[in-house]
Amino acid sequence: MKKHKLLASFVLLLLSTKLLAMPTDYVVMRWSEQAGLSVDYHQIVDLPANQFVNKVKPAEKSVTLIGHDGTKLWVPIKQFLYTRSEHHGVEHIAGQQFLNDELTFVVRVKHGWVKSLLLPDNHSKSSVKYNWQQLLDSAVEKAPQQLSKAGSSTEDNRINLLFLGDGYTIGQQHIYNQHVDNAVKYMQQFEPYLSYADFLSVDRLFISSPESGADKPASCFSPSSFADTTFDASYCTNNIKRLLTVDYSKVYAAAAGNPNWDEIVVIVNDEEYGGSGGSFPVISTNTLATDVFIHEYGHSFTHLADEYTSPYPGYSACSDINGPACEANVTDVTDRSDLKWNYFIAQSTPVPTPVDSGYNNLTGLFEGARYLETGMYRPKHVCNMRNLGAEFCNVCREAYVLRVYDVNYAAGGKLSLIEPGTQIPVNSSPIGQVSVPMNFSIDTLQPSHDLQIIWFVDNVPQSSVNSSTVTQSFVLTPNQVGTVSVKVQVKDNSPMVHNSRHNELPIFEHEWTLNVQPFENYILKDGFE
Ligand SMILES: [Zn+2]
Ligand SMILES: [Zn+2]
Repeated sequence: MKKHKLLASFVLLLLSTKLLAMPTDYVVMRWSEQAGLSVDYHQIVDLPANQFVNKVKPAEKSVTLIGHDGTKLWVPIKQFLYTRSEHHGVEHIAGQQFLNDELTFVVRVKHGWVKSLLLPDNHSKSSVKYNWQQLLDSAVEKAPQQLSKAGSSTEDNRINLLFLGDGYTIGQQHIYNQHVDNAVKYMQQFEPYLSYADFLSVDRLFISSPESGADKPASCFSPSSFADTTFDASYCTNNIKRLLTVDYSKVYAAAAGNPNWDEIVVIVNDEEYGGSGGSFPVISTNTLATDVFIHEYGHSFTHLADEYTSPYPGYSACSDINGPACEANVTDVTDRSDLKWNYFIAQSTPVPTPVDSGYNNLTGLFEGARYLETGMYRPKHVCNMRNLGAEFCNVCREAYVLRVYDVNYAAGGKLSLIEPGTQIPVNSSPIGQVSVPMNFSIDTLQPSHDLQIIWFVDNVPQSSVNSSTVTQSFVLTPNQVGTVSVKVQVKDNSPMVHNSRHNELPIFEHEWTLNVQPFENYILKDGFE
């Protein structure tokens, strides 16, 4: 028996109306055991309502928001505990992880909705309840309401990747733009990012710094040097030379200028090798920086584990046998029938798989992963989550595609393969006439491979095609008076997701109910009446 869930296919209904932007509290908060909770920044921005909060309690650490009507919403604060650095070595990369003394996080929620906020139980013996309005009133910095963000609904139907720069002076904006362009261009050479390039919306903010570069403290650098920058970028965090970090709270506050971000990336204008992950990737302009970014995005967006073996003292263990479950790309299971990526392994490949030139390019079960030499396994000998700059393995690619459709973002939650607002007729209950052909169409959000498109009339399939054409249309000529349903379904049977899991991918649909009236020949009427 395969362990992965064989879920029935599910259908997501596309909202035919554009979600209205409304006043949203954008709040940057800071919490530590010693100081408790404080609010660094509050701004009211215009966003679609409650799109950045979970309606179901997530598995990861979260804060709970309680509405005036008693209902609850959750904001995950996963990843805010650790800082990770990636080091480019000959054989592998190494990570280090530090427990941050304080958590910095952003809450984006409909203005006026929240009554109180509960801190998670795991951060204090008993959970602490805060009055929301008092929290907002206590904000250290209060920005005025931002004007409506001029964006289309299509723009929200994307993974919004927001770049910010630190250590760029006012005259260096063109250099900053070049660095962002290079990072994006490099990223999109790699699968799975290449196939899903159009799913990304790359946004950038430029905030100049008084000086170029970043701090290089004396405990790691000789000679030491300091730069006055907007986000306080510094190497040598926790006395690790290459561990480059910024002031998370200041970055989150600045990101309010482009408040619908899904992922943040900070580029620090210094060529010294360094970077960090955790809340968001921070990279330098060293030539290896974009490799670090791609790898970090594997952690922050896809929730992949490191596949290398350098020890990482104190890292919490995982087990697919006893729990808590491991990330998609690592496992401690060695029984082939229970192995979660067994469908990618050829019958002729032994499990576990010896490191041998005959198998190194195949998917198997290779020992050594997630900071352990033994007892933990990875899917391929070489993968980007093990070696910076390498290709991602099949399992990591599949995990990305599944994640793309699972994340809560964009217009009201999930991303849609039917672009919001593109349906023709716009009206879901249009009027037609007997014997008069009527055209129906939608535009798709298109990966580089074909999507499956099925048209239905009164729930009877009329045509099914695999197509890469963005505009998909269907003509119906009604033959009798009454109502008739016309429906289109769009699905991504991605070649990067194994066939046996295609039923876990969502189906997106749009339906019109056509009201068919008797045929009237207006020209004849005009002529003879
Ligand atoms: Zn890593
Ligand atoms: Zn991998």
